[in-house]
Amino acid sequence: MSDDRLSRYRDKRTLTSSHEPAAGHERGARFVVQKHDASRLHYDFRLAVAGVLKSWAVPKGPSTDPREKRLAVQVEDHPLDYADFEGTIPAGHYGAGTVMVWDHGGYRNLRADNDSPRDMEQSHQEGLIEIWLDGEKIRGGYALKRFREGDKPQWLLIKMSDDQADARRRPTHTENRSVLSGKTLAGIARAAGQDRPKGNHDD
Ligand code: MN
Repeated sequence: MSDDRLSRYRDKRTLTSSHEPAAGHERGARFVVQKHDASRLHYDFRLAVAGVLKSWAVPKGPSTDPREKRLAVQVEDHPLDYADFEGTIPAGHYGAGTVMVWDHGGYRNLRADNDSPRDMEQSHQEGLIEIWLDGEKIRGGYALKRFREGDKPQWLLIKMSDDQADARRRPTHTENRSVLSGKTLAGIARAAGQDRPKGNHDD
């Protein structure tokens, strides 16, 4: 993105965000899936919760098939601004490798409407998150269920059975372009002047 386009984009974001609810409010919250060509290719699934991006590294990325449970390893919270990052992190730095904004959009907390409602922070602490995603590639209900505690808690990312479920779609295989720039990972790396750099970290 040219500096000019980037600054116009930032101006637009500032205007937009002034009309958005305060940080941590769950209506209008955002999610992002970043495809990350690090030492191992993976997808970073991130949800804006209480002013940070709660984050998971998902080796196979999200599925649209409710029978496919995808491992999601909880990683460090990221700042909200990181949701728009696309580009190349130099070798030797945390998260080294090329990052693509593979999908993004709004999400809703489905547990907010339960008989015993939970906000997103409570859901995260309890290890059960149920959300509705309005992305460009992935949509509908998704559950995140923690099954192992520890240094890097392990969760499963599971598509719920609803009218957006589709066992035949395999968007991580067939939809390989950025929702921000339309570029492939190789195109993003080329634009950054680096050809498939490899890092030391999976996060
Ligand atoms: Mn990553």
